[in-house]
Amino acid sequence: MGRVSAKVALVTGAALGIGKATALLLAREGARVVVADMKAQEGHAVVAEIEAAGGEALFVPLNVTVEEDWSKAMAAIKARFGRLDIAVNNAGIAYTGTVESTSLADWRRVQAVNLDGVFLGTRYAVEAMKPQGSGSIINLSSIEGLVGDPTLAAYNASKGGVRLFTKSAALHCARSGYKIRVNSVHPGYIWTPMVQGLTSGTPDQEAARQKLIDLHPLGHLGEADDIAYGILFLASDESKFMTGSELVIDGGYTA
Ligand code: NAD
Repeated sequence: MGRVSAKVALVTGAALGIGKATALLLAREGARVVVADMKAQEGHAVVAEIEAAGGEALFVPLNVTVEEDWSKAMAAIKARFGRLDIAVNNAGIAYTGTVESTSLADWRRVQAVNLDGVFLGTRYAVEAMKPQGSGSIINLSSIEGLVGDPTLAAYNASKGGVRLFTKSAALHCARSGYKIRVNSVHPGYIWTPMVQGLTSGTPDQEAARQKLIDLHPLGHLGEADDIAYGILFLASDESKFMTGSELVIDGGYTA
């Protein structure tokens, strides 16, 4: 018996990184998993990996910023599984820029994916979960949603927004008696394609990686599974008294 047996879980940005690790872990723990991403080839590969291990999964093409994609994705989930128990709003993008160097176009691009995407994902998940009277929504914020960084103006704003939007949605669902929980997760630096991309643009990638490591008192970067296990806990009934909470998984970065 898995920790999320028979539940239906949607994970956005599930083709790579933290989303992929989460999709695989939720499947290992018994969930039927919807792999949602813009990267179809990599997304189908995640589905194939879940099926090869005896699990059940479905790929849905989804750009989290496009509302029409959301209604199509939810219709596909309803047709295949008839319900939605877990929604992990994980898709996000990184962007390095200060208040002075960030253009309005880049600012809006970051908010569109990291904030609009989480808003739409939460709204559509609430709509699907409300008639069931149960559900768990997990939104990916960051340590950058807790503390500021001069070089991450747009990213800081988006992730801080995710943190407080999550609390607003959690309170609304709780006070409305929906029995839908909404929580945020705040990873430190995790060695995924996102962070590899940030350091690969620098002349000395190993030095850039070491600089990031030094920010974490535990002395190393996190792995995607470190975050997936936190998400699994919030997705499962083990966390049934948690809503509006922020789960920090950061190797001591913000301690
Ligand atoms: P990643 O870049 O490795 O993977 C992100 C996935 O999201 C990719 O599969 C990508 O195709 C998908 N994606 C991007 N834009 C999308 C869109 N508009 N619609 C649908 N899918 C889209 O990223 P990651 O490191 O795994 O990060 C996952 C989440 O965790 C993000 O929200 C990120 O901000 C957050 N986070 C990551 C770290 C870290 O150190 N890696 C730290 C804190 C928070």
